[in-house]
Amino acid sequence: MKAIVVGAGISGLIASKELSSLGANVYLIEEHKKIGLPTHCGGLVAPNFWQKLGIPKKKNLVLNEYSGISFSDGHHTFTLRTRKPFLFAISRILLDQYVGDLAEKKGTKILAGERIKKVFLYKGGVKALSSSGNVFESDVAFIADGLFGQISNKIFPKKGKSLLLASQAVFRHSLEPSFPLVLLRKDFSEDFFAYIAPLNDEFARVGVASAKPIASLVIKKLVKAYNLKQVEPSKHWGIWIGGPTSKVSFYDKLFLLGDAAGFTKATTGGGIVFGSILSRLLSKYVASSNEAEKKLAKERVNYLKKNLEFMLIIRKTLNFFGPSFYYPLLNKIANLRGIEKVVETLDYDFLFDTSLFS
Ligand SMILES: Cc1cc2nc3c(=O)[nH]c(=O)nc-3n(C[C@H](O)[C@H](O)[C@H](O)COP(=O)(O)OP(=O)(O)OC[C@H]3O[C@@H](n4cnc5c(N)ncnc54)[C@H](O)[C@@H]3O)c2cc1C
Repeated sequence: MKAIVVGAGISGLIASKELSSLGANVYLIEEHKKIGLPTHCGGLVAPNFWQKLGIPKKKNLVLNEYSGISFSDGHHTFTLRTRKPFLFAISRILLDQYVGDLAEKKGTKILAGERIKKVFLYKGGVKALSSSGNVFESDVAFIADGLFGQISNKIFPKKGKSLLLASQAVFRHSLEPSFPLVLLRKDFSEDFFAYIAPLNDEFARVGVASAKPIASLVIKKLVKAYNLKQVEPSKHWGIWIGGPTSKVSFYDKLFLLGDAAGFTKATTGGGIVFGSILSRLLSKYVASSNEAEKKLAKERVNYLKKNLEFMLIIRKTLNFFGPSFYYPLLNKIANLRGIEKVVETLDYDFLFDTSLFS
């Protein structure tokens, strides 16, 4: 089987690695010259993300391990501590390059610096045309061109109030490096939050997402309040909190992956884990010859969607009440006896199951 994957972000990379492992002949096409760059991601993942992505552990990808999390409304700050790390800050650049190497080892051919401008179905399969005039023919195509990808946005447009403007940069800080600080303030973001995520005791990723273009103002306020010093220019991108697409597969020949399919958590904007799991499942669905395995993969995609839809309900509820309502509630929960044990055992990626369990 011949497969083309458009976009070498984490979703396209994981799909390429999985498809190649299952014996497909894979071409991964990326418009940028280098895998992993440019990056705009916060890189926060649960410690068990290795298993979810299906990759062997590699220590140097983890920049910081958090044993707690702090929340602030600008007036009060409280911290939920855990005995063992419950959240990692990873290097997205190194992660993407690592998965790229794994995919190449399995046989994926990576074509970097090639932009796909059109993908269309024909009787024999799928064709992709690149800006430089190359034509790629294959049996199936996976579109992993990200949040602003032009090919996927024609199929599943990401616009309106659910598309938040996100900005992030690295700053020098003087905070406690063991906890990320989440700022829940209506004047910072009505629909999301701002964060300071220390990478070590010197540098931190600082960012904010909001439907309103107020990032520079928020970052200015954070700089003043927390004595931060910017060490790189801000990167501007987006976070989608509108939930997953209703359809990821078209005629079993064309598939949407990752951000292109809206597979980001509406609660936190995280997309690394859900995007990667979707890639693994759809690769299995397409390349496996075992009918039972295919059926299971399809069922699991629906299960992922159910979880993402549940997070969308949580996000809508939080946004309806606003931080001034739910911040005190969070504070109360943080003070419950034994809460750290619950936090340690929760799976934040699967909040639907977690809530039932809780
Ligand atoms: C500020 C910010 C902070 C975030 N923090 C976190 C976090 O802490 N944890 C988390 O899990 N997620 C986080 N996310 C979300 C996460 O970054 C995304 O969900 C994830 O990057 C999606 O991966 P992807 O492979 O689907 O898309 P992308 O990583 O966007 O990759 C898409 C790729 O496709 C390529 N491409 C696009 N169009 C074409 C074309 N026509 N031809 C060829 N190539 C093309 C692009 O160059 C790019 O390499 C954050 C996002 C932002 C903006």
